[in-house]
Amino acid sequence: MHIQDIFAKGGPTLSFEFFPPKTAEASEALYETISELEAYEPSFVSVTYGAGGSTRELTHDLVVRLKTTTSLDPIPHLTCVCHQESDISSILERYAEEGVGNILALGGDPPRDLRSYVKANDAFQQAADLVRYIKRFSVSGNHPDRRGFGIGVAGFPEGHPATPNRLKEMDYLKAKIDAGADYIVTQLFFSNDDFHDFRDRCALSGIHVPIIAGIMPVTSTKGMERMADLAAGARFPAKLLRALRRAGDDADSVEKVGIHYATEQCSDLLAHDVAGIHFYTLNKSHATREIYASLGLRVARPAAV
Ligand SMILES: Cc1cc2nc3c(=O)[nH]c(=O)nc-3n(C[C@H](O)[C@H](O)[C@H](O)COP(=O)(O)OP(=O)(O)OC[C@H]3O[C@@H](n4cnc5c(N)ncnc54)[C@H](O)[C@@H]3O)c2cc1C
Repeated sequence: MHIQDIFAKGGPTLSFEFFPPKTAEASEALYETISELEAYEPSFVSVTYGAGGSTRELTHDLVVRLKTTTSLDPIPHLTCVCHQESDISSILERYAEEGVGNILALGGDPPRDLRSYVKANDAFQQAADLVRYIKRFSVSGNHPDRRGFGIGVAGFPEGHPATPNRLKEMDYLKAKIDAGADYIVTQLFFSNDDFHDFRDRCALSGIHVPIIAGIMPVTSTKGMERMADLAAGARFPAKLLRALRRAGDDADSVEKVGIHYATEQCSDLLAHDVAGIHFYTLNKSHATREIYASLGLRVARPAAV
């Protein structure tokens, strides 16, 4: 379903992010998670896109499987990294044929093996260029929906580490919206003040599309360390760190603290009329289910057995 129709239903969107599994075991775990979370009838689910190589095909496979075997509405991520125009065109053609309604258009993380990666060789240098291309593809009538793909882009409430100039950064974000993006999904954040301020700064910059807040509960100390690395620049407020320190090395307590903290964030976001909340699930369902329960968001229908 086109993202504009999803928003038109009213109320905040609630959605989940998955990544394509690389092993049979991880695949089994993901499908268990999916069957548990499908019952919550999320507004959509999104599927991440690897930095290069064979993992990229897995995104397509997972999107098609979700679309054909579940009631979920998958939104594939697509990035500029290591792609020529012809690659992007054939990916879009396949998604259009399969009736995929939306794409999250991203700059993309560079591949791990930086030696062989030359950014200048990418056909699209910034996500804004990719948005423009998807829009052109859409208006050429290649998509079953006459509006073409709905397009999402990334936003960074705490600022993106590659652009220290926070004024220019808003211009770059505005360029993505002007190129045709319909909505923004944010990077994870732990201080809602950052999100509220980002939303205000967007409005001041003339950005008036819905902004979906990205939430990732801390579920383990190791996970938090990985998160700090992957979402480089993410701030971990003292309030969260203090509570985690109290939990010490008791894994259950750490998880409870992380889930409680994320629940408070979600509760505040809902009270402030957030357009949507996107849960970075890491392919697990427990934390999301706990947050839903604490917020009084009931499961829409019982999980299939
Ligand atoms: C919700 C979300 C989902 C993500 N999913 C994935 C994924 O599936 N796969 C993946 O590889 N990565 C993913 N990422 C990470 C993301 O691709 C990286 O953080 C990337 O560095 C930034 O992506 P972007 O789309 O904001 O890129 P861009 O908008 O291209 O911005 C990249 C940098 O360039 C700057 N910039 C933009 N325009 C200009 C300009 N005209 N001149 C100079 N500088 C400019 C921006 O300020 C920013 O610092 C995701 C991030 C988010 C928030």
